[in-house]
Amino acid sequence: MRADLCVVGLGGSGLAAIDEGLRQGATVVGLDAGLVGAAAAGRNGGLLRAGCSLFHHQARVRYGTNRAKRIHAATIEERERLVGDWPDLTRRCGYLRLAHDDAEQEDCRAHLDALVEDGFQARWHEGPPGPGLLVPDDAAIDPRQRCQKEAESVAGRQAHLFEYSPALDLHPGLVATDGGRVYCHAVVVAVDGALAAVLPELAGRVWPMRLQMLASGPHEPGTLPHAIGTRQGWDYGQQLVDGRIAFGGCRDVGGDAERTTSTVPTAEVQEALERRFTEVTGLRPRVTHRWAATVGYTESGLPVLDEIRPRTWAAGGYSGTGNLLGAVCGRAAARLACGVATSSVLD
Ligand SMILES: Cc1cc2nc3c(=O)[nH]c(=O)nc-3n(C[C@H](O)[C@H](O)[C@H](O)COP(=O)(O)OP(=O)(O)OC[C@H]3O[C@@H](n4cnc5c(N)ncnc54)[C@H](O)[C@@H]3O)c2cc1C
Repeated sequence: MRADLCVVGLGGSGLAAIDEGLRQGATVVGLDAGLVGAAAAGRNGGLLRAGCSLFHHQARVRYGTNRAKRIHAATIEERERLVGDWPDLTRRCGYLRLAHDDAEQEDCRAHLDALVEDGFQARWHEGPPGPGLLVPDDAAIDPRQRCQKEAESVAGRQAHLFEYSPALDLHPGLVATDGGRVYCHAVVVAVDGALAAVLPELAGRVWPMRLQMLASGPHEPGTLPHAIGTRQGWDYGQQLVDGRIAFGGCRDVGGDAERTTSTVPTAEVQEALERRFTEVTGLRPRVTHRWAATVGYTESGLPVLDEIRPRTWAAGGYSGTGNLLGAVCGRAAARLACGVATSSVLD
């Protein structure tokens, strides 16, 4: 098979890369080791929170104000694209950074000041489930359906997608799978938690991490009017339209054991999630589902977005916040691979 661009990984980031490649007039082949959206992109909390893994005030300090602003603005653009493209799958519920204690309340104030100073929408929230910083324009999405709809959309525009087709060997201009070879001008590898497995030269720069969630309920509508993040972002959740609450986090409780490619939930983290669920909502959890998936983490909290081998770009390592940033990076990688850009939002 021949194409201008071969995209490895059909989660949200890879599908955005394919969409962008098509927009640039490229012929595109997409490969996934399993099913479209069956990894983290289809099994996450569904929060469309603008920004990167660090909160904006922290990102300004770590990456510089202009770079942090550019990244933040790019994720807002992607959020608006998703809400515009998939109104039936998204809810403009806002994101509440719920202060866990007095220290976090102070930090939320600093976070709010930084957002407002840089011209981003945010305000202080009082009332249930507690005080904190509210970003009213942030949203939530059904992550699995997002991937399925995006795959249908790109396939309808003549991208060739192959499931159960792991990329086994990558050379400049050639991707080999069990079932055949793709000869292409350029490759985008968008496999997040599997980046170092596919491109071993990235080992040490990006590593796999297990994130765990549970679903509880249904509970009274309005229990969580906003998608939430709390305890410095360790814990997060949203209430779905059917009343169930998807609640995740407590990775700190699992410690180093969460640095794994295993996607089996553990008793230790799940019990902690149940306790945190009660602390946040005031309700006893009625758990219907427990699950986990693998994501890629980096030391800086910023993703990898680089040409790792000649004409082979890697995008991944969103440190647990890739619904928007992953799509931003997938698009940027496709533009670099198609030769229509020479730098990205991360530069
Ligand atoms: C429990 C949980 C909750 C989360 N909650 C949120 C949230 O609320 N908001 C948010 O922004 N982020 C959240 N995240 C993070 C987010 O899910 C990820 O950052 C994002 O989905 C990454 O998407 P991706 O397409 O880059 O990678 P993935 O979804 O991991 O997709 C990569 C794809 O590559 C495929 N692949 C791997 N190896 C190969 C190979 N050799 N050949 C071909 N294909 C291959 C995989 O099968 C997979 O389908 C959460 C993650 C988890 C696990």
